[in-house]
This record gives sequence, structure tokens and C-alpha cells, in this order.
Amino acid sequence: MQILVVDDSKAMRSIVMRAVRQAMPAGLNVELRVIGGATVAETLHGRIIVAHERLGDLSEGERQFVLAHELGHVIAGHWLQMVNVYRRWVPGAVTQDKTDPVAGPLGREASGLSHRQEFEADAYALRVIRSLGRPSSDAWSAFIALGMTQDTATHPATRKRVAALKADEMAPTGAGGNAE
Ligand SMILES: [Zn+2]
Repeated sequence: MQILVVDDSKAMRSIVMRAVRQAMPAGLNVELRVIGGATVAETLHGRIIVAHERLGDLSEGERQFVLAHELGHVIAGHWLQMVNVYRRWVPGAVTQDKTDPVAGPLGREASGLSHRQEFEADAYALRVIRSLGRPSSDAWSAFIALGMTQDTATHPATRKRVAALKADEMAPTGAGGNAE
């Protein structure tokens, strides 16, 4: 595992490293970058997790939930799933003159997939924090701390994500509801 922390705060580095080490399966090849700016956390190219320094303001369990969510994207291979959707609609090089004619159906399929991936990563993250002995309420409070949002092209509204997680929590073990 390669970890690149772009932040000169020693406290932030140790906070993030501790959360990642606990949530990360051994042998997973992921690069971690800690940044300033608007993004809270995201996964790039399927293996680089970008974590915002604001994560340092969350509680340990909330932080583990957010980072485990990003790890969930990596482990489930979500980047490749999305690449394959684009490949199917736009064989060959992706250029604007090729994407424009299929923008409608491609956009709908990509958005639907992206929403399913978010629910799946949330469900994974909830399982991780519970396996670390954290209460499920750390997941809800992470959402609240990071701010409630409406539906976007890539992300379901926060209230839908929390509702899906609460349904997962009630379901018998293993019935994630949002797996592949
Ligand atoms: Zn996500």
C-alpha cells in the first residue's frame, strides 16, 4: 500500500493514517492524499483516495465511515464498472463528437450506476465500522456533520442514503440490498 499525505499537519496525518489502517484490508494497493479545498473525500482512477483535511474535525468513528466508504468503491471495482459503461456507449476514444449523440442514455445509465455504487459503498462502510466496534450512529452523524445534500447526477440525496443504511441495519446479516 502506498500512502501519500499532502498535508504538513502531523496531527492530520496520524489521524488519517490510523483510520485507514484500521479500515483497510491487508494487501490493498491504494494511495491516499489529504487535501484542502471543497471535496470531502473521493476516489480517483479506482485507487487514489482523496481525503479532505476537514475529516480531522470528525470523530474517529465518523472518519472511519467516510474512509471506509471510499475503500468500498476501490474494493468493489466501481471505477472499472463505470469505465465499462462508457466503453459500451462510446467504443474507442472518448471525444465530444462521439459522446454528444448518446449523452442522454449514457448519462442516465452512468447516473443510475453511480447511485447504486454510492449505496453499495455506504453499506460496506457501515459493515466496516460495526466490525471495528463503532455504533451505526457514527454513520448517520458523519452525514450530518458533512452536510445534507439533494440528489445529484452522481450521488443520491443524503436522506436516501441514510434511509438505505437504516434498512441495511435492520436486514439480516449479509442482506445488503445494494450488492452488485
Ligand atoms: Zn462514494
